[in-house]
Amino acid sequence: SHIKEVQFVKSSSRPRDCPKDGKPEFAVLGRSNVGKSSLINLLVRKKEFALTSKKPGKTQLINHFLVNKSWYIVDLPGYGTALSFGMTALASYYFDASAFEGLRFANAPDSARTDWSSFTKGYFLNRDTLVAVLLLVDSSIPPQKIDLDCANWLGRNNIPMTFVFTKCDKVKGGKGKRPDENIKEFQEFIRENYREPPPWIMTSSATGLGRDELLLHMSQLRNY
Ligand code: GDP
Repeated sequence: SHIKEVQFVKSSSRPRDCPKDGKPEFAVLGRSNVGKSSLINLLVRKKEFALTSKKPGKTQLINHFLVNKSWYIVDLPGYGTALSFGMTALASYYFDASAFEGLRFANAPDSARTDWSSFTKGYFLNRDTLVAVLLLVDSSIPPQKIDLDCANWLGRNNIPMTFVFTKCDKVKGGKGKRPDENIKEFQEFIRENYREPPPWIMTSSATGLGRDELLLHMSQLRNY
């Protein structure tokens, strides 16, 4: 599970532009500010990676990093503010609007709507080489509806996922709750919808907590 080498391969704005070499990949997904860049940097131990998707207004969506010439970490833009559409639209962008009760495409331009739908179907549902989604969840704040909706959508569509809780070093988080309390609450929501809840790992980019566990987990999933 050791990372010896990481290469940035490409940014793709459409699923069909993604690498076609058949190597297994893990998509890293989460709300803006969840700690995604920090976590990817912790994993690959390189500061210059995972910065591409942070630039506002950028059009490339899917960033492939090749690890040890054998598997990919895929950096997707954070939902929330990345493309300045607002959370509702971005949620729809990843996860068909129909998956979100009460959310509509009303604010989205038609062209964007088309892209979202093809992105959703083309990437999450049809990416054969996708081993699992690493869904990042901020443990320093209470469970967020958008994260739960996202998890439930992935679950309903049988897309394998691992919860990666970030910022577990924080002593007190939102509403004065500790990360472990927020995580427990999140898990309770998840258990309502899953017979078998997805695996989960506690991490901190500040202390390095969970790095080895996550790398080992990914190597086990690849060899499964
Ligand atoms: P991104 O928008 O998801 O890529 O999030 P970033 O990696 O840029 O992190 C967002 C903010 O959270 C930054 O201020 C980070 O310093 C902070 N942060 C990220 N990871 C951790 C962590 O493990 N512990 C703590 N305490 N803060 C973190």
